[in-house]
Amino acid sequence: MSKPFDLLIVGGGISGTALLYLASKYSDIKHIGMLEKYAASARVNSLHSNNSQTLHCGDIETNYTLEKAQKVKRAARMVERFATAQPDIDHLIFKYPKMVLGVGATECQRLRERFEVFSPHFPNMRLLELKDIARIEPAVAYSKGTLRQDEVVALGSEDEYTAVNFEALSRSFIRQAKKAEGKEVEVHFNQQVVKIKKQDDGMYRVTTEDTSYLTRTLVACAGGHSLRMAHQMGFGRHFSVLPVAGSYYFTPQVLNGKVYTVQNDKLPFAAIHGDPDVMVPGKTRWGPTALVLPVLERYNWQTMKDFFRVFKFDIKVWNVLYDLLKVTDIRNYMAKNFLFEIPFLRKSLFLKDARKIVPDMAYKDLTFASKVGGVRPQLIDKNNRKLLMGESKISTGEGLIFNVTPSPGATTCLENAEIDLRTVVKLLGANFDEEGFARDLLDDGPTNDENATSRMLNAS
Ligand SMILES: Cc1cc2nc3c(=O)[nH]c(=O)nc-3n(C[C@H](O)[C@H](O)[C@H](O)COP(=O)(O)OP(=O)(O)OC[C@H]3O[C@@H](n4cnc5c(N)ncnc54)[C@H](O)[C@@H]3O)c2cc1C
Repeated sequence: MSKPFDLLIVGGGISGTALLYLASKYSDIKHIGMLEKYAASARVNSLHSNNSQTLHCGDIETNYTLEKAQKVKRAARMVERFATAQPDIDHLIFKYPKMVLGVGATECQRLRERFEVFSPHFPNMRLLELKDIARIEPAVAYSKGTLRQDEVVALGSEDEYTAVNFEALSRSFIRQAKKAEGKEVEVHFNQQVVKIKKQDDGMYRVTTEDTSYLTRTLVACAGGHSLRMAHQMGFGRHFSVLPVAGSYYFTPQVLNGKVYTVQNDKLPFAAIHGDPDVMVPGKTRWGPTALVLPVLERYNWQTMKDFFRVFKFDIKVWNVLYDLLKVTDIRNYMAKNFLFEIPFLRKSLFLKDARKIVPDMAYKDLTFASKVGGVRPQLIDKNNRKLLMGESKISTGEGLIFNVTPSPGATTCLENAEIDLRTVVKLLGANFDEEGFARDLLDDGPTNDENATSRMLNAS
């Protein structure tokens, strides 16, 4: 066993690696470690192909209120500031035009109203009429060689960083963390944590399949598995998890940038969009769908047993599911998303949705993107009979934090890490380099309860 860590992070996705970076660069915590069960970082939801690669700024996400949008934008700016300062910026962050498209009178009216409210806070946001859309995204504006006849309008911007390869970003975080002077930063791959136990001396013993580690504080950034770890330690038992997988389709390149669609307010998940895949040149990627699956990791059926251990189906979980299923729009949406997975059927069904964006899209152009797309671990709050959207953290006040990070958890990785680091620093009696942190990553003040995107949950 190595000497005890001051901070040990479990999970080497974008959340864990962001915390590793912040702790080594902006605190005087000496001995910092990260354990990842796979042989490399970001193999699960942060893998380049498993998420939509969007740096969410909240302006074109019509499911975000202005308040939420401003919080997300603040967090996104931290990622942008880090990534644009790196020598390998071209592999990390990308500029594409982006827009949210309204189709039909109701959606167009909604976007015009949104523009009035949001544009003072998003100076780059433009109201795009059909001719503007035609200039930026001809395939959206034209049908059969002429401008489309249905009413459309969009909100968007043309010169912003809109896409991130979160997998490459997590490698960058690790590289930078290891460069920190006067620190012992250890990253151990192929280390699956199987047990965490608090010892009488207040330290945590973290057992993996072949060894064990001691640490003063521990932050779990293990997606849905974080909740499993919390349950094992006796925390957050009033939470269950609903894993919502997302699938994608490819077409030849028809879009120049990101084109989102207006969210149906009754649905808990974002409507589909089309955009370039930063790792697959010459194609446009479409999705994600939203399919409830009994696994904590997509395409890893071994995680089904972990899912059932945290799902803990009971009347309270049923009540939340019942509340969802009794809404006709949600029921139909869930059924449709199930059909999106059925070969032979899925392409024609998905085509209908995608033609809202590109009216002339052809059946033959659509290909199901095999082994692409991750799982959003949405928490179920059993006590308050609610499905929780967005990222959550269960903080125990005793040196243990459990992060569960559905979308937009990749965009908010640095902000989430900042919150955790502030907690850990306090517990350890260490120092946070406020000046350096603000200089490098913040446009304005530090993260507090008011401007944080992630939700702090009661541990018991
Ligand atoms: C379809 C889809 C689209 C999305 N699109 C976007 C988007 O466009 N923009 C955005 O901001 N967010 C998006 N998200 C959300 C984003 O992908 C996640 O919030 C983010 O990747 C979560 O990162 P993480 O590090 O917390 O979790 P993960 O990337 O899942 O990493 C968790 C890590 O923990 C490790 N681990 C688990 N158990 C153990 C154990 N017992 N021991 C050791 N290690 C363990 C895993 O191997 C993994 O490496 C999307 C998600 C999905 C599913």
